Amino acid sequence: MKATRHTLILAGAGHAHLVALRGWVDNGFRPPQGTILLSPNSHAWYSGMMPGLVAGRFTQNECAIELAPLCKACGVDLMIGEIATLKAISRKVQLLDKRELEYDYLSLNVGSVPPQPSLNDGSINVAPAKPFAAFNNHWQAWRVHNDPIQIAILGGGAAAFELALALHQSLPQAQLSLICSGDLLDGYSLGLRKRASKILYKRGIDLRKGTRVDCIADGWLLSNKQRIQSPDALVIATGAAPQPWQSASGLSCDNSGFVRVRATLQSESHPEVLATGDCASQPGAFHSGVYAVRQGAVLSEIIPELLAGRTLREYQPQPRSLALLSTADGSALLNYERFSVGGRLLGMWKDYLDLSFMKRHRLD
Ligand SMILES: Cc1cc2nc3c(=O)[nH]c(=O)nc-3n(C[C@H](O)[C@H](O)[C@H](O)COP(=O)(O)OP(=O)(O)OC[C@H]3O[C@@H](n4cnc5c(N)ncnc54)[C@H](O)[C@@H]3O)c2cc1C
Repeated sequence: MKATRHTLILAGAGHAHLVALRGWVDNGFRPPQGTILLSPNSHAWYSGMMPGLVAGRFTQNECAIELAPLCKACGVDLMIGEIATLKAISRKVQLLDKRELEYDYLSLNVGSVPPQPSLNDGSINVAPAKPFAAFNNHWQAWRVHNDPIQIAILGGGAAAFELALALHQSLPQAQLSLICSGDLLDGYSLGLRKRASKILYKRGIDLRKGTRVDCIADGWLLSNKQRIQSPDALVIATGAAPQPWQSASGLSCDNSGFVRVRATLQSESHPEVLATGDCASQPGAFHSGVYAVRQGAVLSEIIPELLAGRTLREYQPQPRSLALLSTADGSALLNYERFSVGGRLLGMWKDYLDLSFMKRHRLD
């Protein structure tokens, strides 16, 4: 199959690309003809609202952005497809369906997947929190069957905490446990961690800290060869691992396999490749939607500058960020450095911020 050639490929409809495209709609920049946004789906899920979807607070429509109208508004072609391999040296990507694409410039915003226990014999029904489309099918099936079910959630970060509460809300028949390898919400303030533990306790969600599940065998979760639990299903919300093809691409990657980028968001080894969001590794930038959105705003300036051969703007990660964690009942917890507070007004504020993001990026 002959490769098609593109001046610019935007791979992945992550937060950063959505923000960059919307920026072009506003500022009138139009990328070279034949520029494509490559996405496995015709819509992009907004992760901040996924726990709300699971809790039954939002519909699927409210949580997804149709990509075609956004692309059309700034002269980008939407191509449905998924990168299987990238050869940075020859500037080529191959898709899962074997199509080949060549590029002059490539912008990667392909997100991440949660890391899974290294050994797994397939004896437990596993539902990784990402990709969202697949996770959505899993929890919908649990809801429809309405059986008493025991679900373990792996992970101790904001996503795992929010998903545990959301599943509790939508699956009252389920017995839930949250298993973290370290402390719950490590890195957040002590006040927030206490509030979060109390909420889990009140809702009857079992919290098991300091337990790294490294193996799934014969229907059991094991940690250091010790049997921990034998749930019917396992939700994996353990943070961010890179797409496996990144480390084989020839791009300079960190030890985990995330693409190392400079402040200009260019690959350290291949300046014609940019990377933003979870798939990138930049000192000071965390793998979270908040940082991806900020990078996206700068990316919308950097790409036109790169194409025009001008000096590139730089992205400096903000040293602190505010976190709002939904508690699935319309309330939220706020954390900023050592300060934390919770309540319904914060829940309304979080909903307002999330819905505003959706309103700005959906042009259908
Ligand atoms: C349940 C949950 C809740 C979360 N809530 C929050 C929150 O409230 N606030 C926050 O800051 N962070 C939150 N996060 C983290 C957040 O989801 C990520 O940090 C954020 O999505 C990263 O955005 P991104 O721009 O890197 O790409 P993403 O938004 O993750 O999107 C990546 C895109 O790339 C596409 N893609 C994947 N593989 C390929 C491929 N091979 N080829 C082409 N395209 C591909 C995917 O389909 C997807 O559209 C949450 C995570 C989870 C799991």
